[in-house]
Amino acid sequence: MLEKKLLEEARREYDLKRTICLVSDEKQNSLVCDLINYPHAFVLAAIMDRQITFERAWAIPYLIKEKLGDFSLNILYSLSLEDYKKLFNDNKLHRYNEKMAEIFYSAVRKIVDEYDGDASNIWSDKPSSALVVSRFLDFDGVGIKIATMATNILVRDFKIKLSDYYSIDISPDVHVKRVFKRMGFIKSKDINNLEKIIYKARSMNPDFPGLIDYTCWKLGKDICKSQNPKCSECLFNNDCPKYIDNNDF
Ligand code: SF4
Repeated sequence: MLEKKLLEEARREYDLKRTICLVSDEKQNSLVCDLINYPHAFVLAAIMDRQITFERAWAIPYLIKEKLGDFSLNILYSLSLEDYKKLFNDNKLHRYNEKMAEIFYSAVRKIVDEYDGDASNIWSDKPSSALVVSRFLDFDGVGIKIATMATNILVRDFKIKLSDYYSIDISPDVHVKRVFKRMGFIKSKDINNLEKIIYKARSMNPDFPGLIDYTCWKLGKDICKSQNPKCSECLFNNDCPKYIDNNDF
C-alpha cells in the first residue's frame, strides 16, 4: 500500500506543470534552465554537484558568467586550465577548487570537441536512457549518482523525450536514504548500501525507477527530517511504519 501511494504521488508530481526551479536565485536558475541557448550550463552545473550543496553547485555557471561577462562556449573554451584554477580558487566556487577546475575545463573541451559545441546533443536525438546516462558518465569526475540525477532532471523537469526510461535509477542521497529506511523499504543496517536502495526502487517501478526520486528527496528535505520528522503533516502517515531511531541523520 505504501509503495503504491508513493508511486501515485510521484506520478502526480511528475505530471504537474510547474516553473522549473533548480536554484532559488532567479538569475542563477534562468541560466541553468536555458537548455535552448545555454545547454552546457545545465551540464556543467550537474558535473559540479558533488561534495557541496545542490544550491552551491548549481550556482557555479552563473558565478563564472558574472566573472567572465559571458557564458558562451567560445569564451569558456578560450580559457586555459590555469585560468580555471585561478577562477575557482579566487572565488572559492567549490570545496575542491583545484580538482573541480580541472573537471570543468575538461567538460568544456568535451562539449566542444565531441558534441559540436552543443551540449543538447547529449539528449536531443531521443536516445535510450542508458545512452544518456552513459554520455554523462563519460565526463571526467561524473559517477552514476550524478549521471542518473542529471538524466532524471532532464526527463522530469524539462520533459525531454527518451526512447525509454529503464536506466534512470534513483539517486540515493541522505534524504532518500532516510526516507527509504523509515518507510521500511530497506533495513537500518543497509542505509549505506546503495545497490539495495537502487534495486528496491527498480522493483517498485521497473519502467522508470527514478520516478520516485524527487518525491522521496523532497519528503526527506521538508517533512521527514533527520530530527523531529513532521509525521502528522506527512501524506504517508497512515501507511508508514515510521522506523525512526536514535541513529537517524
Ligand atoms: S510518516 Fe513520518 S517517518 Fe514516515 S515518511 Fe512521513 S515523516 Fe517520515
